Amino acid sequence: MLKKKLNEISINQYDKEFDKLTKQQIYDTLLIFTKEQIEKLPKNKGERKLYYVSAEFLIGKLLSNNLINLGLYDQVNALLKEINLDMSQIEEIENEPSLGNGGLGRLAACFLDSIATLGLNGDGIGINYHLGLFKQKFIDNKQFEEPNNWIRKNGFLKDTGEKFDVKFGDCKVTAHMYDIAVTGYESGYNNLHLFDIDTVDENIVRNGISFDKTDIKRNLTLFLYPDDSDKNGQLLRIYQQYFMVSAGAQLILKELQENGHKIEDLHKYVAIQINDTHPTLIIPELIRLLTEKGIDFDEAVDIVTKTVNYTNHTILAEALEKWPYEYLKQVVPHLMLIIEKLNTTIKERFKSKKVQIIDKEHKVHMAHIAIHFSSSTNGVAKLHTDILKKEELKAFYEIYPEKFNNKTNGITFRRWLLNCNEELTDFITSLIGEGFKKDARELEKLSQFVDDEQVLDKLLEIKKHHKQELSDYIKLHENIEIDSNSIYDIQIKRLHEYKRQQMNALYIIDKYLDIKKGRLPKHPITVIFGAKAAPAYTIAKDIIHLILTLSELIEKDEKVSKYLKVVMVQNYNVSYAQKLIPACDISEQISLASKEASGTGNMKLMLNGAVTLGTMDGANVEIAELVGQDNIYIFGKTSKQVINLYKKSSYDTKKYYQDDECIKEIVDFIISDKLMELGDKTSLTRLHQDISQKDYFMALLDLRAYIKTKNKMTKDYKDRHEWAKKMLINISKAGQFSSDRTIEEYNREIWHL
Ligand SMILES: *Cc1c(COP(=O)(O)O)cnc(C)c1O
Repeated sequence: MLKKKLNEISINQYDKEFDKLTKQQIYDTLLIFTKEQIEKLPKNKGERKLYYVSAEFLIGKLLSNNLINLGLYDQVNALLKEINLDMSQIEEIENEPSLGNGGLGRLAACFLDSIATLGLNGDGIGINYHLGLFKQKFIDNKQFEEPNNWIRKNGFLKDTGEKFDVKFGDCKVTAHMYDIAVTGYESGYNNLHLFDIDTVDENIVRNGISFDKTDIKRNLTLFLYPDDSDKNGQLLRIYQQYFMVSAGAQLILKELQENGHKIEDLHKYVAIQINDTHPTLIIPELIRLLTEKGIDFDEAVDIVTKTVNYTNHTILAEALEKWPYEYLKQVVPHLMLIIEKLNTTIKERFKSKKVQIIDKEHKVHMAHIAIHFSSSTNGVAKLHTDILKKEELKAFYEIYPEKFNNKTNGITFRRWLLNCNEELTDFITSLIGEGFKKDARELEKLSQFVDDEQVLDKLLEIKKHHKQELSDYIKLHENIEIDSNSIYDIQIKRLHEYKRQQMNALYIIDKYLDIKKGRLPKHPITVIFGAKAAPAYTIAKDIIHLILTLSELIEKDEKVSKYLKVVMVQNYNVSYAQKLIPACDISEQISLASKEASGTGNMKLMLNGAVTLGTMDGANVEIAELVGQDNIYIFGKTSKQVINLYKKSSYDTKKYYQDDECIKEIVDFIISDKLMELGDKTSLTRLHQDISQKDYFMALLDLRAYIKTKNKMTKDYKDRHEWAKKMLINISKAGQFSSDRTIEEYNREIWHL
């Protein structure tokens, strides 16, 4: 049947049988076929509807994931194998949609998958960025940014023909809605609605990713997170945010009325979840639209408050959005009366400066609007929610204890196990059956095999295969050879000082110096990084430069490179993650305690049999609780201790640097002759200066404990069966981190669909 169907399409398109097609033609044929199958699915329906509004959706490639969810993957893959191909080769042709940046965007994608899988009535709302987040290239050991032109004529993006006018202070645009179908696993489908404008012009982009930030009609939907280090950049961000929520709000009200409901019943039929503060303007915008239709102001505020819910993703002060009042006034003058009135209400109700909407510097705090005028504020891991309640948002928690709740993040096992690790999926199925694919908790059944040597050997064998495959891929794409017998120690996540890639780099220096002195590691180790730095984040780029320069130094040193390799892969994204994660031995989750809200990379890696090396931060705390101390490597200061250091301003990096000779030697290597000859003196000196003088995210605080724990890990790795047990227990306990569980909690406690 399948063969007949594919032949039909290929003859129609190319006048050739399916098995005579080029790879590109095979991809296009499978694309047509898959889209036809999706069309046949029922749309998930319900009395109430959820809208998940997010600036990012990091969805990854879609073809094979859709085939898995449609239950057609195995058949298609078997057909491809008949002609000596497989899905991974065909999928190389697909561009990964560049609609997200990191964990927050990937979370939105996992959530859409779980919402669809659970049969819930819920669509996503976002922006169709033509050039997405930049594409990362390394030249002379430095990051360069290029536009990521990912949209093709044929793809999963569908023109709906729906349009909404969006008015700004100085111009008007038409939001044009495109949809990507979100298939559920053996379920119906939902939509991801992406708004765009027809007048956007990719040709205004010059050398790298620069463009005229004031040319709104041409630039509005070009890039995700355009540089906002200047006024025009910040204005553009506000234009984008309002564009997304104004079109989204109009769509929501239109659908409500099409379903025969009155707009004053919005909260009865609609739940809106805003992913971080980027969509906060949907609150005043909905109030505006409701009052325009004759609803009185206070009632409109009440309705909108009951409809909207807010997810907080960070406690980093610099990441909490606040826009100058004047900027908002310029972009959305018609919202200012509403924002003023909301501000007055809060001023009258509460004295505390900490909860005001407009501060004395005339900045508008988006998170404050989102908390006051929504029904729910959630953190994304137990520790994070506790910190919100007790520290960052304490003043709000005291006013609205009932609004605060925790929803520990999760990941979709369809992509992060079934899709990226077929071999492990099949092995698990052979041991405990298929049940875990729908109910992830069934992975617990694996624990009965902890002492089964055959099972442990097979786990190690599967890991070895993936390590070999990753080696081949890295050889091809980065031109670096890595020994698949070495330990694969992997840190993949956006580059940020709080995530402490610099601490990992200092570990590498320590190992390098050790080897030079003849102290050889217990086992050869390959340290792999994948990370993009925000284009204007200088220190982050300096850290990339340090890592790449170390990589080159070690690569050129025959003696050292037998024991130690460093690779930073270019353009880390979902597709690369799917190749790296199954091959990982050590999962680096080493953020400064209290700073990582949850992390989801930690979950993906444990699910694929990596052992975590981490601090007691974010969801690591919950992982540790589940797997027990024998199956995770925890080090470093606790969140309590770190929060105290900040409160008292008592962390002094100079003490660690000057008083500890080993640390000084390691840090000073950054500006050693060897590195300065290879690298950029300005960049290395700036980073050295920063770590030894300031070190705001305290890399030196935990460096000693980190090195010690990692050394212990490389020693323990040698006992293969003991290690395989840890792998097995990690996999068996990962069920808790299925996004199906997370979404069930959101639905039960917030959305009530
Ligand atoms: C999961 C994921 C992330 C988030 O990683 P963290 O380690 O949780 O920060 C970022 N980028 C991509 C491509 C991912 O798949």
